[in-house]
Amino acid sequence: MIVYNLGCANDHRFEGWFSSADDYEQQTKSNLLNCPLCGNNRIARMPHAPYLSTGSVAREPEAPQPTSAVPSQYTNVGADLLAKLIDRVLEKTEDVGRAFPEEARKIHYGETAERHIRGNASAKEVNALREEGIDVVALPIPPHRLGKTH
Ligand SMILES: [Zn+2]
Repeated sequence: MIVYNLGCANDHRFEGWFSSADDYEQQTKSNLLNCPLCGNNRIARMPHAPYLSTGSVAREPEAPQPTSAVPSQYTNVGADLLAKLIDRVLEKTEDVGRAFPEEARKIHYGETAERHIRGNASAKEVNALREEGIDVVALPIPPHRLGKTH
């Protein structure tokens, strides 16, 4: 199973899960890929492997966060789709908890095996990772799902 960061012609970012690189190629060539947000089928791969920062993002006193826990790119995704996405994320990623920023860096700089991880990070840490060119995807995972292991 491989995960690609994809983007549509309307600049929506989302993840595509494929059984292999060939599977991705085939689906692209056959126009089987659609943006889950707008249905656009002009889909392109984005450069970075996704790292997931999930759960409640710690609030930084010096940088208050908006009250909405749902990142803007997910606000027009139905609850069902979001729940499915969260299911897949919980199933396919390794939970590194608070070590997330450190692990994401190690993977980015090739100091440890490349894999998909999830964990917690503050808004400040997420911004710092993004500035280093490490792509972090924030997903609103309900607290009751976080303790679940597969
Ligand atoms: Zn779209």
